[in-house]
Amino acid sequence: MAIQWYPGHMAKARREVSEALKQVDIIYEIVDARIPESSRNPLLDEIGQGKKRLIILNKADLADPAATRAWIDYYAAHQLPAIAIDAQHTKGINQIAQATRAELAEYVAKQKDRGVRQVLLRAMCIGIPNVGKSTILNRLAQRNIAQAGNTPGVTRAQQWIKTNADIMLLDTPGILWPKFEDPLVGTKLALTGAIKDTLFHPDDVALFALKQLSHQAQDELTKFYHVTPAELQLAGPDLLMQMTAHLGFRDDYERTSWAIINDVRKGRLGRFTWDEVPADGQ
Ligand code: GDP
Repeated sequence: MAIQWYPGHMAKARREVSEALKQVDIIYEIVDARIPESSRNPLLDEIGQGKKRLIILNKADLADPAATRAWIDYYAAHQLPAIAIDAQHTKGINQIAQATRAELAEYVAKQKDRGVRQVLLRAMCIGIPNVGKSTILNRLAQRNIAQAGNTPGVTRAQQWIKTNADIMLLDTPGILWPKFEDPLVGTKLALTGAIKDTLFHPDDVALFALKQLSHQAQDELTKFYHVTPAELQLAGPDLLMQMTAHLGFRDDYERTSWAIINDVRKGRLGRFTWDEVPADGQ
């Protein structure tokens, strides 16, 4: 359930996240693997400057695996270590500790030189709403600690939880706002459930999804929406109209749009990545 952001929320989030960041050695930047760039908040580049960072592409179970690999390579080429996980089904969680140790190896070595016997590494999760911060926290803590719901910033007094012998994690994630400026980014955030359902028109979002689905999910569209091969050739609104007719929704295009959006969000139509790796990425 995503919140609606106002300037006051953003200022508070910025202040609280900046404050919390002072306490950690590494930031776990949680993004949605289906939209690895659109689900990032650029503010983190500014307030997280000088901190080690690990990008965690969560919900990899819903994303196109080849695209996920391409995104990880892209980030690596930009000196940003990244891993892909599926927190919901506890897949890939161990990579987080491994990557943390690798990133902080130099710091650990220095501390050991200074005579510190057991070096503790401190981390926190940060991301926009709904990318899976709480789920990841619970998996790392191996118990339910993160509260449900979303409030901007870092929402209550924080405590450290021990996730491994050497890694401590703040028990409240930092919540930053999604990018609002670019309408296409907004559409992708809506499609993946990162912005409130009341804040966008479902037809635009469904039409955006259909463009890709009519190429990449022809069998699923035929199976779930009874679309014919000829109809698949139709451009946007005409295809949506045909689907609405097949579903018996009369002229209720919004209802069809919501059906498409919900099916995409649940992964019923397949695994898709909606952000393309920029051309300069190798
Ligand atoms: P937060 O707002 O960032 O704390 O996100 P939550 O942890 O509350 O997760 C938002 C929704 O995404 C919940 O319905 C989770 O069950 C779901 N979710 C979290 N991680 C994954 C994942 O890896 N895969 C899938 N399919 N769903 C996930």
